[in-house]
Amino acid sequence: MEKFDAIVVGAGPAGCAAAYTMAKAGLTVLVLERGKYTGAKNMWGGAFFGPVMGEIFPEFRKEAPVERFINRHIISFMTKEDCLSIDFKSYHGDEGSSPGFIMLRAKFDRWMSTKVEQAGAILATGLEVTDFIFDGSRVAGVKVGTEEFPGNVVILTDGANSLLAKKAGLRDDYKAPDLKQGVKEIIKLPREVIEDRFGVSGSEGVVMEFVGACTKGLPGGGFIYTNQESLSVGVVVQLSALLENNVKASDLIEDFKEHPSVRPLIRNGETVEYSAHLIPVSGVAMMPRLYSGGILVAGDAAAMVLGTGLILEGANLAMAAGIAAGNTVIGAKALNDFSALALSQYESLLKESFVMKDLQTFRRAPHFLENPRIYNDYPEWTCAMMRGIFNSTGKARRNILEVVKESMKGKIGLMQLVGDTLKARKAI
Ligand SMILES: Cc1cc2nc3c(=O)[nH]c(=O)nc-3n(C[C@H](O)[C@H](O)[C@H](O)COP(=O)(O)OP(=O)(O)OC[C@H]3O[C@@H](n4cnc5c(N)ncnc54)[C@H](O)[C@@H]3O)c2cc1C
Repeated sequence: MEKFDAIVVGAGPAGCAAAYTMAKAGLTVLVLERGKYTGAKNMWGGAFFGPVMGEIFPEFRKEAPVERFINRHIISFMTKEDCLSIDFKSYHGDEGSSPGFIMLRAKFDRWMSTKVEQAGAILATGLEVTDFIFDGSRVAGVKVGTEEFPGNVVILTDGANSLLAKKAGLRDDYKAPDLKQGVKEIIKLPREVIEDRFGVSGSEGVVMEFVGACTKGLPGGGFIYTNQESLSVGVVVQLSALLENNVKASDLIEDFKEHPSVRPLIRNGETVEYSAHLIPVSGVAMMPRLYSGGILVAGDAAAMVLGTGLILEGANLAMAAGIAAGNTVIGAKALNDFSALALSQYESLLKESFVMKDLQTFRRAPHFLENPRIYNDYPEWTCAMMRGIFNSTGKARRNILEVVKESMKGKIGLMQLVGDTLKARKAI
């Protein structure tokens, strides 16, 4: 078997970015993907943020299967009956400040992997990497069952809960709250219906995030993203909370779809796809060692996901890390040195990039987002407050401060509010 300069395990955003970077530089690259085709096993909400896509694929706006560009963000606190939203619309035409775009994984992964092949990498699908070849303590390739694929460097981009990173001795077991479970449906609707219901036209798109009753008060949230002719509708919930409370994510998404503020948005839609996936959410606290002799790890496999409660970013971090891993291997190849010391350049590149900077800035966010009041008491309080302000009871109205105080009773103490606000200031 030919010895490759690099073997990439997994053809998601991280793996494709790494493979494309190296193949374009003339390295021999083998990408092994366990799905029957790229994207077959993958899912996400679908919002891609930041300029990294344009940096690696300058023509992506013309070429990539973008569903819609995001020009509206809606964040909602919901109780069983109510929904209080912040609705931000932005019509900035400046591409550099674009808040992002929406894509479907099946189409996006296929497009990206075509670019990888065009750059000269070999992509083999339907092959699940099961183990490594070792040369002493250094990784020297991978195994697919009994078949061996030798390579100077292996880049692990096999996604959340990477068993291979554990096998390579790069990480320990995760702790229970480190993973969230996401479930998602793609609900088909005519383009005109989506545009009418969501107040968009042309290529404009909406990202909606929900907190509260959509997860039965468990840490997590709901989402609805507009595609061209479908909606991505889902919930993401802390896995340990689901297990402890004996709640199924599949039941939560059904309840979410029945909420009075969600039902009209998806009315008469047809569910054409259902998927479930894990997300590593504890950031730097759960990050594995990023490199060792002959091996690098990037993307979800390295827990490079940023969740602040207001945004969830993983795909852009995965791609940026994939590019950094690819560039590290290009440098190592030039020196013909694939030792841990040579590959430590990867960590330096990541520290200089937004990936490690953002994960460091928001390192307290995962712990902060475990606070149950965010998902129970705050939605209950803020919605009760809005009812107090808007509902007319026929009795004399009270001023706003009294309404606020009244709505807090039995839900939030003043000291709790001050404490949580201070923690939020530090965390997000
Ligand atoms: C419900 C949900 C919503 C999300 N929403 C967003 C969002 O809106 N925006 C955002 O930026 N991020 C979002 N994310 C996170 C985002 O999907 C990930 O951060 C991103 O996909 C990570 O890319 P990756 O390449 O590291 O891993 P993945 O995309 O998981 O790709 C890993 C690849 O490796 C393959 N693989 C796994 N094991 C093996 C093996 N042993 N051998 C060969 N191949 C293997 C898999 O089949 C897969 O193709 C969401 C995630 C979920 C679950």
